[in-house]
Parts: sequence; C-alpha cells; structure tokens
Amino acid sequence: MKFWRKYHPNIGKDDPEYHQAGLLYSILLVFFGVFGLTAILNITVIDAPHIAVFDFAGFILTGLLYFYVSRRGDFALARWLVVSVLALLLMTFAYLSQGSNYSFLWVSVFPPIAFFLLGPQAGAWFTTGVLVCSATMLKGFLESGISGELTLGAFLNFIEVGVAQILLLRHYETSRRMAYTRLEKLSVTDPLTSLHNRLHIDKKLEDLLSSSRAHDQHTSVLLLDIDNFKAINDEEGHLIGDKVLQALAGLLTSMVREQDIVGRWGGEEFLLVCPNTSLSEVTQLADRIIHALNEKPLVNNRKVTVSMGAAVVNESVETMEKLIQLADDRLYQAKKAGKNCLVAG
Ligand code: GH3
Ligand code: MG
Ligand code: MG
Repeated sequence: MKFWRKYHPNIGKDDPEYHQAGLLYSILLVFFGVFGLTAILNITVIDAPHIAVFDFAGFILTGLLYFYVSRRGDFALARWLVVSVLALLLMTFAYLSQGSNYSFLWVSVFPPIAFFLLGPQAGAWFTTGVLVCSATMLKGFLESGISGELTLGAFLNFIEVGVAQILLLRHYETSRRMAYTRLEKLSVTDPLTSLHNRLHIDKKLEDLLSSSRAHDQHTSVLLLDIDNFKAINDEEGHLIGDKVLQALAGLLTSMVREQDIVGRWGGEEFLLVCPNTSLSEVTQLADRIIHALNEKPLVNNRKVTVSMGAAVVNESVETMEKLIQLADDRLYQAKKAGKNCLVAG
C-alpha cells in the first residue's frame, strides 16, 4: 500500500490520478529532505548562509505544504499548489545562484512535472510562464555580467531546450491522455453493441446499491433475454443475429432515461439498471419495450420478442447478487410462461 493512499482513499489503483498522487507526494518528500540536508551543508561545510536561508525556507514550505494538502485531501487543489510552489522554489534558486554552475538547469525539471500533473494545456501555460520569468532573470544576469559562466550561447540553449520541452511534452501528454481515455472506454464497452459490458455494470450497480441504501431509494433492474435467438442465428445467419443484437441495443438505449444504464449481460441477454425507479415504473418500461418489439420488425422484416424478469431493491433484497438472482428467477418464469412477457413479482 502506497503511503499517500490514506490521504486520498477515493483515488483507486486504476485511476489516472494514482501515479500523479505518487509523484506529487514523492516530490514533496524529496524536496523536504534535500532542502533540509542542503541547509545544514550550506551552514556547516560550504559556508553559503544566504543559500542556507533559502534552503531552510524551502524545507519549511514543503513540510507545511505536505501537511496541508494531505490533511485537506483535495487532490485537484494539491496539484496546483505543489506545481506553483515548485515553480517558485526553482526560480528563486536560479535567482540566488545568479547563473553560476549552470544551476538554472534545475528549471528544466519543472516542465515534465507540470505537464504530468496539470495536463497539456495548463502545463503548457504554466511552463511558458516559468520559462519567460527565468529567461528574463537570466538575461538580467547576462547583461549585468554578474556571472562569468553564463554565456550568450548557454542562455540561448536554455531557451531553446525550454521551448522544445513545451512542444514535445504537449504532444506526449495529449497522446498519453487520449490513449488512457480510449483504453478506459474499451475496457467498459461491449465491442458488438457499444453498450456497457458486464464488468462495468457490475461496478455501477454495486455503487448504485450502496448509495440507494444510504438514501433509501429504489433501484430496479430488468433482465432481458431474446426469445428463440438460436433460431434467428440458424435461419438468418450469425451476421443477422449480430445485427439483431445491435438493433435491440439501440432500441433499449433510446427508450430509457438518461440516468438508466443499459448493458449487455452476456450472449443475447441485456440488463437495464434504473436508479430511483419503483417496480411499477420498471413494469411500465418493460411493457413499452414489449409493445415496441411486437409493433415492428427489428432487422430484415423479422420480428423479435423478449422475455424479462424485474426486481427492485428492498429489505430482503439488498445485495447485488440477490437482486440479479431474483431478476434471473423471474426471467426463467417468463420463459416458462410462454415468452414475450415480463414477470415482476
Ligand atoms: P430462449 O428463448 O429460451 O432464450 O432460447 P434462445 O434460442 O434464445 O437461447 P439459447 O441459449 O438456446 O441460444 C442463445 C444463442 O445466442 C446461442 C448463441 O450462439 C447465440 N449468441 C450468443 N452470443 C452471440 C453473439 O454475439 N452473436 C450472435 N449472432 N449470436 C450469439
Ligand atoms: Mg439466454
Ligand atoms: Mg434467448
């Protein structure tokens, strides 16, 4: 278990913020340690008290920041604060060292951190700001001749590397975020129907049940199975069978409310999860589905019927397993009762 998990229990291992939080708290700890150590070294061995004052200020600032952001538990705020304080510390360091020992190179650790924590747009703006401030400062050193080591060539290289970093990191971070979003979507989507897959509905339903228990609200489910689907496959071919699944997915999606979840439960079975919906309301929805399917053919002039089992959360049906089991039992009864119908109680 990562040390920072207790500060942000909502950030799961699969969340994009997971590694950002790891980096953020590591930066604070590393800078806290390095500032503390260099403060001692600058007083004792190196004899540079003005840098030691800065180090000590950095030590206190990073310590306080760690304390504040971890207690506050607001990760969005934490990112902005840490990036801002880091920018301030790095530029102050570049200023104090007045261009000597190429210490301004430390500013170049800033862009990857800013892009990773703030994203391509805010990262680019922030980095541009830091680059402009640092370059203005260095230009002052160059013109006043304070630092003999800072040449015009080194100054120009600093600016060029900074601009290259902004351009490269912008593309890199944009494509990384796009790939993550795409992968996340793929992992929760059924490829044939583009509905939510079972993994996703499981998770959504679990979340919904805990909130409906807390707020004493009804959550209903409707388990739906296409009647005689094997015959459709056998008579029309698997491709038409697939088209039937896709058309039914589209029909179901068009008939539910925005907050309802439609998912493919398996082969030719679908699950509808309806938050804040009573059993009588879900019965009305099922009747409308049966009516719509009986009214007109779904694919290739072929009429398709479905059987359904409905269940609602109550005192005796509290867990997801029990809810689905009840809907499944009722679906079985609907099949036994002659198909093309709903059993809801
Ligand atoms: P019942 O009315 O009792 O539900 O009968 P059924 O024929 O619908 O049910 P059965 O379980 O006998 O057959 C389901 C068929 O669904 C068998 C399987 O090949 C087919 N199937 C499952 N997934 C897909 C799919 O993605 N595409 C196609 N075309 N067929 C599928
Ligand atoms: Mg089936
Ligand atoms: Mg079937």
